[in-house]
Amino acid sequence: MKIAILSRNAKLYSTRRLVEAAQARGHEVRVLDVLRCYMNITSNRPSIHFKGEDLTGFDAVIPRIGASVTFYGTAVLRQFEMMGVFPLNESVAISRSRDKLRSLQLLARKGIGLPVTGFAHSPDDVGDLINMVNGAPLVIKLLEGTQGIGVVLAETHKAAESVIEAFMGLKANILAQEFIKEAGGADIRCFIIGDKVVAAMKRQGKEGEFRSNLHRGGSATLIRITPEERSTALRAARTMGLNVAGVDLLRSNHGPVVMEVNSSPGLQGIEAASGKDVAGSIIEFLEKNEPAGSTRTRGKG
Ligand code: ADP
Ligand code: MG
Repeated sequence: MKIAILSRNAKLYSTRRLVEAAQARGHEVRVLDVLRCYMNITSNRPSIHFKGEDLTGFDAVIPRIGASVTFYGTAVLRQFEMMGVFPLNESVAISRSRDKLRSLQLLARKGIGLPVTGFAHSPDDVGDLINMVNGAPLVIKLLEGTQGIGVVLAETHKAAESVIEAFMGLKANILAQEFIKEAGGADIRCFIIGDKVVAAMKRQGKEGEFRSNLHRGGSATLIRITPEERSTALRAARTMGLNVAGVDLLRSNHGPVVMEVNSSPGLQGIEAASGKDVAGSIIEFLEKNEPAGSTRTRGKG
């Protein structure tokens, strides 16, 4: 296969590993900075150009689109889809997963376990919003945050009120969520490829930190997940329409709850914790699924 990897930086661990794994399995691979791809969208032969070159002949594309370039990145990916190139994850699925509120609504529709979550626009409704999600302590999140930035734990009703009002004053979209205290500052990352959880790890926040993000100093260890956790993670990825996903679960008193579904999960933490060749499994997934060819949406939506 001829594979394109959409990534802003070829030196990133995940990008390097995907390049290595593709080459090791005999494929031709190119890393393309998504912000340097430009497109002719009016033509009856959709095309993508890269630094003056007309890109042709790709069989598959692996999007590694950072949160800050979601808008442009998914447009480029959509163009690849229109050209008949098989995407590891579809552009629509990536767009869905980048909006925490939209994701949670889709998951709720399928009856997947979630922390009690609320959303409001007007400062006048903040008091009732807090009560609706069972009061303080509660977690407040920016809808489009990543790496733990924009996630705040408010210990008291008063603190929650002022934080929510401050965010609203900045016109930031936020959600308020039940704090799953019993998770003890840990979450479980399930790495999904196709219909399998290929590896799972527990991430523990550093001392005194409720956020377990590795970017916030959390540490990762291998973990055995329960059958219920496995099926919850798989259903979540399927609901989002993602072939490859990092589904983050919290162990709550009322069973596993899905916190978020990541469409470009990092490989470094999971490969280190599990000792598995996750990059190789991703390429293997492309080998099995690209020949069938068509994407579900082909650039629609
Ligand atoms: P981000 O997209 O920034 O990673 P998350 O929603 O994943 O945002 O939250 C970051 C971290 O905060 C999680 O990994 C988890 O450890 C902690 N966290 C988030 N929501 C809750 C919650 N409702 N209860 C307990 N801990 C939470
Ligand atoms: Mg997270």
